Amino acid sequence: MSEELCHSTIADLSRLLDRGGVSAVELMRAVIARTKEVDGRVGAFNSFDEADALAQAAASDERRSRSRTAGSGAPGRPLEGIPIGLKDVIAVAGQPLTASSRMLEHFVSPYDATVTRKLRDAGAICWGRLNLDEFAMGSSTENSAFRTTSNPWDLERVPGGSSGGSAAAVAAGEAIAALGSDTGGSIRQPAALCNVVGMKPTYGRVSRYGLIAFASSLDQIGPFARSVEDAACLLSAISGHDRRDSTSVDLGVPDYGAGMAALAQSGRKWRLGIPKEYFGAGLDPEVGAAVQAAIDEYRRLGCEIREVSLPHTKYAVGAYYIIATAECSSNLARYDGVRYGHRSRDATDAIDIYFKTRAEGFGPEVKRRIILGTYVLSSGYYDAFYLRAQKVRTLIRRDFLEAYKDVDAIVTPTSPTPAFRKGEKAANPLAMYLNDIYTIGVNLAGLPGISIPCGFTRGGLPIGLQVIGQPFRETELLAVAAAYEKVTDWRMRRPPL
Ligand code: GLN
Repeated sequence: MSEELCHSTIADLSRLLDRGGVSAVELMRAVIARTKEVDGRVGAFNSFDEADALAQAAASDERRSRSRTAGSGAPGRPLEGIPIGLKDVIAVAGQPLTASSRMLEHFVSPYDATVTRKLRDAGAICWGRLNLDEFAMGSSTENSAFRTTSNPWDLERVPGGSSGGSAAAVAAGEAIAALGSDTGGSIRQPAALCNVVGMKPTYGRVSRYGLIAFASSLDQIGPFARSVEDAACLLSAISGHDRRDSTSVDLGVPDYGAGMAALAQSGRKWRLGIPKEYFGAGLDPEVGAAVQAAIDEYRRLGCEIREVSLPHTKYAVGAYYIIATAECSSNLARYDGVRYGHRSRDATDAIDIYFKTRAEGFGPEVKRRIILGTYVLSSGYYDAFYLRAQKVRTLIRRDFLEAYKDVDAIVTPTSPTPAFRKGEKAANPLAMYLNDIYTIGVNLAGLPGISIPCGFTRGGLPIGLQVIGQPFRETELLAVAAAYEKVTDWRMRRPPL
């Protein structure tokens, strides 16, 4: 019973909580027990605060019983009492906020991120601090200073990254859903590798106030969930304008779940674009076959499938690793040992504090990126690298907008390969960077994208399908994803833990 609860969807649990079939405290206890049972093997959490989670759950039960006695009889709010895991770059007041870095190992956040506050306002329980690649830089969680999270489907393999802890926790039943951040694929790729749904909203849809910044023109917060419907529910809760993040857009927030259901009702036939550049060399044959089968499924559903071209795709990884490193070199300048976080103990003067603190506090990948980013921004190289990358970025966005003249959404693999073995790519940063080839363009263009389960390899590893939508048209994107999800049951499979 209790393991069943941990693998249920938000939608099912919400009904169960409404009926009184379970209390929020019982649900939270089940999730805590499950986490204690499996996290020694999975390693999804940096930390969790059992007493705090149970106190939040008790407060939720209290709210529910008050509204019952008030006799409204109306169904409760969908996230009331649901434990949601948070990537350890999203601030939760009074809880550690480490970015999986020695630099912030002992830092406790004095305030809530806007998404955290919105989850609380919706009645959700903020549950645990989920592991990631240090400062969200990586595709495997191997760059975490604390632990490499294991893929629940094969503990010898990585869960993807950088939000590997969020994906693994949802896959393993250690959280009902989770939030992550996506700068170049960090929600979608781990979702694909762990058989869960992961969505990056349009740039500007969700406030980043209280998110530790990596590359500010690319970062976006989004949900991990067990169904498209659950992802829609979380997206509705966290979206919206925030005066504390000037890049969040002042647009009304639709009820994504209701909008998606209405589109499904309408029987609308989608025009889907298949970018020919996404099916070339480097695509694992089993991933390619599963994605082809998914496209065939869409055809059977009556969708119109068209080939489209995104000709500047070949420059995306290069442009991304210039822009992202440039922005990170600037964002990470604040970790100087003076204001907060790690400070070297054996520094002798002010300059020495900076040098030693940063040498001790940052891991090798973060240092590599700060050095690269500083280089591409330096005088004499700025035009050759940074400015040119910005121009390529514009071309990539234009490619997508051109394609959207003919199609409603674009369908691709999420990751070129299924989960790889720990250590397999760790020594070769370029091989690791190439893993982002299908996800990065979406961030450069600021578009919404979602990864949904679409099959397994013969060896039992999950495969993800990416659907890319148009700016601020998440409802349609979710509806396209849900149409496929409805006629398949990949998402129902559970890892052999
Ligand atoms: N893997 C990419 C990188 O290393 C993307 C990371 C992310 O989206 N945060 O930068």
